[in-house]
Amino acid sequence: MMKPKVAFFGMTSCKGCYFQFLLLGEMLTNVFRSVEISHFWMLKEQNRDEKYDIAFMDGAVSSKSNIEKVKRIRKNSRYLIAFGTCACLGGIPAIRNSRRGYHEMVYGRPVKHPSLDEVTPVDRHVKVDYRMEGCPINEQEALRVIRDLLIGKRPREPDYPVCVECKKAETRCLFKDGVPCMGPVTNGGCGAPCPASRTACDGCRGPLPDANWGSEADLLSEHGISREEIKSMFSKYNTSKTSGRASK
Ligand code: SF4
Ligand code: SF4
Repeated sequence: MMKPKVAFFGMTSCKGCYFQFLLLGEMLTNVFRSVEISHFWMLKEQNRDEKYDIAFMDGAVSSKSNIEKVKRIRKNSRYLIAFGTCACLGGIPAIRNSRRGYHEMVYGRPVKHPSLDEVTPVDRHVKVDYRMEGCPINEQEALRVIRDLLIGKRPREPDYPVCVECKKAETRCLFKDGVPCMGPVTNGGCGAPCPASRTACDGCRGPLPDANWGSEADLLSEHGISREEIKSMFSKYNTSKTSGRASK
């Protein structure tokens, strides 16, 4: 029997999501036995461009060649997974959408750069079958999505905030200890590892559709966060003008 073909691609990102995925180690080896890895430049020397059953796309779209790539891979794939916050929302590479003079900041002088004026998420260009936010992704979620697709089940994107996962894990709310947190307005699915280690959620899975932003802003301001800082916290991972899940 032919094994399903799975492929992994990258665009503009730090590649941290793939490193996180590889942390699955032995569990990944078990999954990889059931599939054929057609393309994974981090693991394989020989990569084939062909039709795929499942394609993972990491990174934001920041150049014309990225647009061509994402369209080609969509055309060749049965399921396309936006892998990580850069792919789902623009993420960190999209911070430059709202800044000027970043080339000078990075290179110390004006430079001609081939990138597009606006960095965009994958779903701005093609249809996406599953958005796996996270900076980086949660490797257990990646495993679940692969397993679901292999048994013909359509994976469901989590539709609750990070706070729900704190409650499930019986993690004491950081606000109770005076620590401002983005959990109430952030997409869940990560298992809330940051609050569990007493670090505030900084919203890396992007904004929850229909989040109560006014109430979160009031809470943050009661905890001494300035208006300017609140604005920056709200836009850190979502500067691409579309909110992945809200844009469906
Ligand atoms: S710690 Fe943050 S994510 Fe957890 S319940 Fe409190 S506000 Fe929500
Ligand atoms: S708790 Fe927040 S910052 Fe931490 S992984 Fe989850 S969404 Fe990201």
